[in-house]
This record gives sequence, C-alpha cells and structure tokens, in this order.
Amino acid sequence: MAITRLEIDLEALRHNYQYLRSKLTDGVRMMAVVKAYGYGSEAQAVAIELEKLGVDYFAVAYVSEGVALRDAGVQTPILVLHPQPDNFEEMVERCLEPSIYSARMMELFSAFAKAKNQTNYPIHLKFNTGLNRLGFWESDVSWILDRLHEKNSIKVKSIFSHLVASEDKAEEEFTLNQILSFTNISKELLEGLDYVPFLHQSNTSAIINYPRAQFDCVRSGIGLYGYGNSEEETARLKPVARLKSVISQIHKIAPGESVGYNRAFKASDYMTTATIPIGHADGISRIYGNGVGYMTVQGEKAPIIGNVCMDMTMIDITGIDCKEGDEVEIFGDITGADTLAQNAGTISYELLTAVGQRVKRVVL
Ligand code: PLP
Repeated sequence: MAITRLEIDLEALRHNYQYLRSKLTDGVRMMAVVKAYGYGSEAQAVAIELEKLGVDYFAVAYVSEGVALRDAGVQTPILVLHPQPDNFEEMVERCLEPSIYSARMMELFSAFAKAKNQTNYPIHLKFNTGLNRLGFWESDVSWILDRLHEKNSIKVKSIFSHLVASEDKAEEEFTLNQILSFTNISKELLEGLDYVPFLHQSNTSAIINYPRAQFDCVRSGIGLYGYGNSEEETARLKPVARLKSVISQIHKIAPGESVGYNRAFKASDYMTTATIPIGHADGISRIYGNGVGYMTVQGEKAPIIGNVCMDMTMIDITGIDCKEGDEVEIFGDITGADTLAQNAGTISYELLTAVGQRVKRVVL
C-alpha cells in the first residue's frame, strides 16, 4: 500500500503482552496503559485485542479517551489517570473510574457521586512518592480515611503511585525509597479500611527491574508497544507500530544546489534526493532535519537532508538502487522508534505519540 501509514501489528502486541505477563509474579494483574491513542498507535484496536487476551484493566489519561474505548465496545474497567471535573458526568455515565489525587478532587467527585445517587462508586487513590506531579502525600492519609468513613458515595478500588526513574540504575536508591514510601502509605490506608483495594506502582521498566514493586497489579505502557528499558529488553519485544511512506519524486542535483526551505542543506557533490510525503505536521519534528534522522530505503539508510517541511521530507538516496513509488520505513522493524528518537535527544514515547492523526492507521 503506497501511502504514508502507521502499521499496527497485533501479532507483535500479543507477543509483548505474553512476554510481560511472563515476568509477573503469580496473581499479579496487568493494567494496559492505552492513553494518547495507545501511545500513538490505535487505542481501540489495541484495547480490543488486549481485552481478548484477558488484560485486567485499562488506563487512559482523559475521560474522552475512555469514552472512545467504550464506544468501541471495550467492557474491561478503565482507570482515568487525570480526570477533570467538567467531565464527571460523562465519566460516570460510561463507567470510567477516576484517579483521585487531591483533596479538591476528592471533595468534588464525592459530592458529584452523591448528587447522582451513587453508592460505592469506584475511585483510585493516587499518591505522590517522588514524581511531584499528581498525588496525595503520605501526610494526607488520616484526612482521607476520615473523609472515606463519612462518605458512602465513593469506594477505593485501588491505591497507586508512579515511579520516577525505574529504568535508571543510577537512581536505584531513589526508586527503593519510592517503593518503601508506597508500602507504608498502603499499609496505613489498609489498616483504616474494612475492605482491601488493590495496589499498583510499577510501569514497564519496574516490571523487570523491581519485581518486589509489582504489588497486586502493574501498569504497562511502552513495553506493550515494543520498547523496553534496555536494548536487551527491547530485543525481546516487537515494535507494534511501523511508520512507513513512499518515494513521491526523485531529483538529481548538482554541487552548490540546495534542498528545502532556508537552503539549510547544500550539496557538495552530485547527488540523488527523494521527496517523501510526511512532514512535521505528521510528527517528524524539524529536529530530525539535516542528517539527525534518516529513513530506510531498500534496506539502506537515507539521511534526512535540509529542513523537514510541514508535509514533506527530503532524503539523500545517492547510490541506493530505488525508484519513485518505492516504500520507505521511518521507524519500525529496521530502525526502532527508540533509536531514531535517541538521535534527536528524545525518547520513543515522544516519537510514537507524535505521529499525527492524518497518518492512516492500518491494523494488521
Ligand atoms: N502509569 C502512569 C501513571 C503513567 O503516566 C504511565 C506512562 O506515562 C504509565 C503507568 C506507563 O509507563 P510505561 O509506558 O513506562 O510502562
């Protein structure tokens, strides 16, 4: 298929899911993180496949993402990591479960649930153990317990926290302190409740690096999409998303001629260039211009030359045996999104989630 497309390989997803599952201690559940369009892929197709495989939970960032999953027929429980009060109505209508991360959110949501005659509406208490982004503090536990005893509109389904640097050996002490802090918080809360919420703190890297932090459930994102916390782990996983395009036109240029806007690239020799119909509007940032990024044509590396345009990118195909209409891989099996991202000083998460919505998703 000769168009710019993101292939979503469900076989790779199944492989990654089974691999990560095999790393879990018996009885530990798996929550699949499918926010940001399933890390840029195709959240609905990914979620439906994972549901078939028996995933226990989904996590999304926003209510709209949970609604899209429900619209696709997903029935598995869905945790909304960052709900907004304006979306409470839709959240409850679609049986989406909020992360409650502050006193304000707890008061607002419990009042909302009460007004809607809800009893024991499932909520997930989020604690800050070092990320300093969202979450209650350990010192909030007694306030939370008092509030929970007063209100029967909400019930704690899980208690969770998020690790800061589980992929980073150099931050091991910090991570162990986060795990300890979460253990203490959970213990205190469980002692004050007459029921037992489930506990979760691990992301993908922690599944491998900190098995003792698996608690009752893990929240995996990047690993499901094929990228691990080290080259070794990534080699055991398979990329789910493959970004491909096609050569629209080939040009022969002479020394001194330039390519693209601002004349940012000037040929020092005779060369052959190809124009590819994908640009910064599609997630190929201008940072990849001028040789920072490359594409693969007929198995060979073709560096990006000049500035990336909004809808097009030019590559150097000098010496590569190819023709107009040939396929080009931007990332996928040959060059991992992690490798390409690293060239530009960023991470696979950013490159994957940046793939614009006008790029056709082809679910295989
Ligand atoms: N949990 C939370 C709260 C997150 O924000 C994320 C990702 O951003 C994850 C879990 C999944 O992390 P990873 O993709 O590293 O597995």
